[in-house]
Amino acid sequence: MTDYAGALADTLVEFKKVVDVNTEAISKARAEIEVLKAINAELLEACKAIVACIVDCETCNATGIEIGTKADACWSCGGVGQVLGGDDIFAAFDAREAIAKAEGR
Ligand SMILES: [Zn+2]
Repeated sequence: MTDYAGALADTLVEFKKVVDVNTEAISKARAEIEVLKAINAELLEACKAIVACIVDCETCNATGIEIGTKADACWSCGGVGQVLGGDDIFAAFDAREAIAKAEGR
């Protein structure tokens, strides 16, 4: 006589093992996601701090072109017309450090 109940019990035991392994993997993945979310939040705040420090370049009046020349790039801003500066310049340096730290550099 076939022991269906016994076979079913064995299958359930194996199934329970797979469920346990998957549950543990899901738990680990969730923990990793929380870490990544925290890093992303830190990066976002650091980026906001840097963006807040972008000011018009005074050397070229934000034109990006060296004064007295027709097309040479401004030595101060490299032709961008904007530089990191303003009252929160130290916040920008702190933010760059925070970004490097969050990226593991
Ligand atoms: Zn400039």
